[in-house]
Amino acid sequence: TSYGFKDVGAGEKQTLVNDVFHRVAGRYDLMNDLMSGGLHRLWKDALVSWLNPPKRPGWKVLDVAGGTGDIAFRIIDASHGNAHATVLDINGSMLAVGRERATKRGLEANTDFVEANAEELPFADETFDAYTIAFGIRNVPRIEVALSEAFRVLKPGGRFLCLEFSEVEMPLLDRIYEAWSFSAIPRIGQVVAGDGEPYAYLVESIRKFPNQENFASMISRASFDRVTWRNYSGGIAALHSGWKL
Ligand code: SAM
Repeated sequence: TSYGFKDVGAGEKQTLVNDVFHRVAGRYDLMNDLMSGGLHRLWKDALVSWLNPPKRPGWKVLDVAGGTGDIAFRIIDASHGNAHATVLDINGSMLAVGRERATKRGLEANTDFVEANAEELPFADETFDAYTIAFGIRNVPRIEVALSEAFRVLKPGGRFLCLEFSEVEMPLLDRIYEAWSFSAIPRIGQVVAGDGEPYAYLVESIRKFPNQENFASMISRASFDRVTWRNYSGGIAALHSGWKL
């Protein structure tokens, strides 16, 4: 099924994506649990443990496409409350939910919420110790631009980590996964968010995203060193790592 989204340009693509997240912001965390069967929690924990944030103050992470703050809160917890996280997202509705969650958790001093585009980061060069992005980069129309922005804002010695849906590398599991994404996910979207079509679009964006090896090459081309990745759940998700050396 193509849902007619195949040939949209960068601007239109961003508009479609924005539309999805404005609509679901309030129910976004529930949707995640339903659509991934809770697996997104394990994958996010894996990101944070690979990042291994130091347990000292002064260390700064930028979480791009950070939405409702899920990754940022996990990183702060792992740093025993020491890390400072800037949550950046293009969508004000997602950030509003995140800000509210930060207040509830008493994490105002550890967090900043910034509405901006991953392709144009409003920060000076060499600002952050780490850059994270989870299930966000495939929504960005020009991935190479986002990667070069990531490189620019990282300090020398800084770490890049990207969690994203990827190519399933287990026979059988890939079939089950296809069936799940093309029938169940839009249906869950229909029931919980009142519209399945935007989810069909998101599923399609997963299919078009480069596989593990090709994405690693893109990260290297953006000047990152020691680029590697780990697969989770048979490659349903992959975590790519790179360093600005
Ligand atoms: N990182 C969060 C998580 O893992 O739960 C949220 C992921 S959500 C699937 C994708 C997020 O990417 C949305 O909040 C959306 O607004 C954001 N986004 C899409 N395009 C973006 C862009 N060009 N720049 C920054 N954020 C963007």
